[in-house]
Amino acid sequence: MPRLAYVNGRFLPLAEASVNIEDRGYQFADGVYEVWAVFDGRLADCEGHFERLERSLGELRIPMPMDRRALAVVLKEAVRRNRVRTGLVYLQVTRGVAARDHAFPAWRVRPSLVITAKSIDWAATQARAGQGIAVITLPENRWGRCDIKSTALLPNVLAKQAAREAGAGEAWFVDELGLVTEGASSNAWIIDQDGAVRTRDLNANILRGITRRSLLDLIAGEGLQLSERPFTVEEAKAAREAFITGAGTLVMPVVRIDGTPLGDGRPGPVATRLRALYVHHAEASAV
Ligand code: PMP
Repeated sequence: MPRLAYVNGRFLPLAEASVNIEDRGYQFADGVYEVWAVFDGRLADCEGHFERLERSLGELRIPMPMDRRALAVVLKEAVRRNRVRTGLVYLQVTRGVAARDHAFPAWRVRPSLVITAKSIDWAATQARAGQGIAVITLPENRWGRCDIKSTALLPNVLAKQAAREAGAGEAWFVDELGLVTEGASSNAWIIDQDGAVRTRDLNANILRGITRRSLLDLIAGEGLQLSERPFTVEEAKAAREAFITGAGTLVMPVVRIDGTPLGDGRPGPVATRLRALYVHHAEASAV
């Protein structure tokens, strides 16, 4: 079955789905995106991702291409037409098409909207979670507005490539104070030596992960000790456990940081439990 993409009002086979070369997304990465995890053909943490989409667009003064309800219909249609049961649905909005000029177009252009959906091999993902992943650390080199889910991802691309070349699954950025900010496409967490679950607070220059937010609620419900307090790479290496969160990875245990194994080098009990809790939450609340 050919995959179908939604582009500005039409579903097209992927090979025919294209945007104008003067699209400001192509020219300037002048746009934002969102990714929802899909369970049983439904969208996990649906409203949270919409809220962040509206916020990212608002910060860039790009109008919503259509309201939430209409967007939800198109997202679900993309999931349905691509026969996705478990997977991801990706949405991108750019400022639109205009003759190349850095400043915003003088007249109101229509934002461009692209949506794709793809299936994920759930058994393979679960097997990966059972093994855990390695991470590497790199100096933070991104812009100061990582709270905006911009399509401008070059530092993230380079970091992820460095991770891949090192045989790792993720790269963590480390700021000038030596504190981990977040991953190239995920939020970073540890369970420290005192058993506290720690992740960077939202005053830092990080993306406000939707998986992060839901997991914070679940952690509170579990009665685990929780602390939105930054950690150094050394603290992470000495931690009991570590993991990452994101719509693509959900909760993924980390077993090695810059080559140093955590604990016995296997996914820890808390990360494993939190993954199961989050998956249950996502399945149960998907719409
Ligand atoms: N940080 C970055 C830089 C990301 O790209 C992502 C994935 N979108 C996340 C964090 C996790 O966000 P979410 O849980 O909303 O997918």
